Amino acid sequence: MNPTKRRTVIAGNWKMNFTPAEAEAFIAEVTPLVAGKDNCDVVFCAPYVTIAAAMKAAEGTNIKIGAENVHFAPKGAYTGEVSAEMLKAIGVEYVIVGHSERRQYFAETDETVNLRTKAALEAGMKVILCLGEVKEERLSGITDEVVAMQTKLDLAGISAEQLKNVIIAYEPVWAIGTGLTATPDQAEETCGVIRSVLAKLYGEDVAETVTIQYGGSMNDANAAELLSKPNVDGGLIGGASLVAKKFAAIVDAAQ
Ligand code: PEP
Repeated sequence: MNPTKRRTVIAGNWKMNFTPAEAEAFIAEVTPLVAGKDNCDVVFCAPYVTIAAAMKAAEGTNIKIGAENVHFAPKGAYTGEVSAEMLKAIGVEYVIVGHSERRQYFAETDETVNLRTKAALEAGMKVILCLGEVKEERLSGITDEVVAMQTKLDLAGISAEQLKNVIIAYEPVWAIGTGLTATPDQAEETCGVIRSVLAKLYGEDVAETVTIQYGGSMNDANAAELLSKPNVDGGLIGGASLVAKKFAAIVDAAQ
């Protein structure tokens, strides 16, 4: 973290978990644990049907609620999809785009990730843009090239002004939901590579202001060390975001 230059963001990704009632109960439990922890932004990204209940439960707290995806078209024949305008209309502030599970199971590509990112930004939302290498790419020594390419393709056509509303989540795919975590040095190195690509695209000063999270089995036991790295500005958290005490411990580690 480098809090003098950029905001730390601790975000939970609930994935396909929590009914509206379960989300309400969870928010009630986690609220006192994260209250007043102002050195980071606290966000939970929820399934579409759970967003409204979670937002109501989080009213008047320091917790923000986001979505887990967004479609790129404003409206039309896209059965099962939800547009940025629809999310904006119910007050959603954050949205995850390009999560590896979307890329892996739902055939999302850098091209559609880029379109979704643009649609969310144009609607005035903040995007948590996920990217990262798969295991074979890390083992082949091409992680830097892979994340550089994803950064360039996913941000194509996005201005420096729009970039102010983009958080990048570096998520090595081999670490997501597996219990394997990148070492703090690996996380730092690859977040640093992403920042250097941003510097080439937008200039050093802009790159220094972009929040880059690490995601991949971050938990209460490893968060402090990961977050101590200068280029790791927060976390995107799956499994541990479903357990109030574990998530709150990560928020504590960011203080
Ligand atoms: C994620 O879903 O973005 C994630 C990082 O999951 P987990 O923390 O469970 O690895």
